[in-house]
Order: sequence, then structure tokens, then C-alpha cells
Amino acid sequence: MTRVYLVFALLLIACSTPQLVNAQELTLHFIDVGQGDSVLIQSPSGQNVLVDGGRRDDDVLTYLQSVGVTKLDLVIASHADADHIGGLEAVVRYYQPPLFLDNGLPHPTQTYEGLLRAVRDAGSQLVPPTARRIGLGDASLQVIPPPDDPSLDSNNHSVGVVVSYGEFDAALTGDAEQAEFAWWLRHVPELLKPVEVYKAAHHGSANGDSPDSVETFSPEAVVISAGLDNSYGHPSAEALALYDSVGAQVYRTDLQGTIIVTAKADGTYQVNADPSTSTLTTPAPSTAAEPESVPSSSLPYDPYGPDKDCGDFSSQAEAQAFFEAAGGPASDPHRLDSDSDGQVCESLP
Ligand SMILES: [Zn+2]
Repeated sequence: MTRVYLVFALLLIACSTPQLVNAQELTLHFIDVGQGDSVLIQSPSGQNVLVDGGRRDDDVLTYLQSVGVTKLDLVIASHADADHIGGLEAVVRYYQPPLFLDNGLPHPTQTYEGLLRAVRDAGSQLVPPTARRIGLGDASLQVIPPPDDPSLDSNNHSVGVVVSYGEFDAALTGDAEQAEFAWWLRHVPELLKPVEVYKAAHHGSANGDSPDSVETFSPEAVVISAGLDNSYGHPSAEALALYDSVGAQVYRTDLQGTIIVTAKADGTYQVNADPSTSTLTTPAPSTAAEPESVPSSSLPYDPYGPDKDCGDFSSQAEAQAFFEAAGGPASDPHRLDSDSDGQVCESLP
């Protein structure tokens, strides 16, 4: 099913109210969620973006609260597998983010449907996963779109993200495997570039990163998000050898707990493990890197088109007419029909 995004122009993330973070630093939290992924991005001007939410219900929500996050501006689900979205429903219900972005593919699981209900209840606008650049004050986030190739599986429809702040760049590629990297290199090579910090694709699986992906991103530091002694054998020896082949320093949530990267606009950054979550007896090393000159992508800012929710209609009949005109039950791009019975916005008069 194709989702259509009909949109109201809306807030720019850059306009939202700043909150206390380390001024002049971009902070990335690679949250220890066991076997899964969750990354909190905090811009120097106070915007918060969460990419994925781990598997378990409240772990990520608890973490966000513990580090003082009071609002989320944007929630991104790289793809709908449970180890990435299991914790997002609780997060969305609590923070009610104004914007939500996922790969838009149907995924008939209770976990995903619960997340979509939460997104709708929160009134979050759906942001299409196209090659858009989203402003975060002085920092920005470039979406690397999933392939439009239905023959590829869920992992290979991961939404990729490159976060940039001055000379610093970090890339998150969800559970992308070699087929998705091949698609990206063929279709959107201009969006892929060397980065300082890279989240290992697919938890360091043997079918995640490849020589092509690590050479393209050529990261200085790689963070692997995986569970201690997980049953998949992540990270694989093959992936570790790949990261070693480009001279990257590797950090692992399974051994070091939550990994926190703080970056300055000159491209220098520090990597620290949260000692309270580490399974190691010694603190994780920290590193600082020299700035690297990277040409920044300069796609124009792309205002979101408007999405509709039930609050946009004065009556059920009006919403129903809109729903039918947009494609009816066969296509509910605005997710107005939460219980899929063909009748939308049933709480309206
Ligand atoms: Zn995964």
C-alpha cells in the first residue's frame, strides 16, 4: 500500500523551545537497550530526536526521563522490527512528539499497530521518509530514504539518517544490509559521505556492513548496539574485521552500556560510556578526533506537507468524505481509521 502524505505546513523543528543541554555541543546517546537499537540526538540548540526505541516497553522512556528529556521534537522508527520499535509506543504516548517518521511500509504486528495508534493519539504529523533535510537549529538531520523496491525485506527498508553539526557527521543505518547499501549507492550516493561516528548496521551482523558501506562512511568510531551474549552472535567477527580494516575505534553497548558522544562544530568529539551501565570493570576509553573537512550536503529545507487527523474535521461525515476521497479503506494514508472498520473518526459528532 502506498501512503500518501497530504500535509499542512507545520512547525519547523528549529522553532521549538530550547531546553537545557550542553550548549554548543551535539550529543548522541547510543542507549543500552540490550539486543536492539535506540539513539537519542540532542542538538546544541535544544532539539531532541529519538531514532528507534529498543524492544522492551519502558526502558527507553525511563532513560529519556533519567537524562532530563522533557520534550521530543521528532521520533523516527528506522523500520518496524520489534527490537527497534518495541519501546516507542510508551515514548510517543508520554512525549507526544509533533513529528513522526518511519519507512511507511505496512507491518502487521501488534507492536507496530500499537505504535501507530499512539502516533495518531498524539496527533503527530507523519513525515514522509524522502531524502529530506530537517533543521535542528545549528545542526541538521539528513534522511536517507529506504528503497522503493518491494522485493527487499524489512531490514533493507531501514530509514537511514546522517546527523551533522558543523564539521561533525554521524550516520545511523538501522538494520540495513548489503542490498540496501547497494541501492543507496546506486540511487542516492550524494547522501552518503565520510562520517566521524557510525552506528554499525544491523547490530554488527555479518550481513549488515560490507566493504562498500564502511569505505563509503569511513568512520573513525563505530558504535555497535547489541545485547550481551545475544543469541544472534552479534557483533560478528566479519563485521569487527571490517571496522578494523578502516581503522575505526569500536564501542559496544553490550560491553560498555550506553555510549554517549559529544561533538563540537569543529568536528572534534568525545566518546564516553555511561559507567553505571557498563559490564566492564574499567571505564571505556574516550577519544578526541581532529576536525575533518567534509562538504556538507545542501539540499534545500523541505517543509512538510500537511497530514490530517480527526481534529481537522468538524464532523464524522466530513472526515468520512475526506477518507473516501483519499482512497478509502484500501489506502488510509492519514491513519484516520484506527480500528480498520471503514468508519473513521468515530468519536466525532
Ligand atoms: Zn534490529
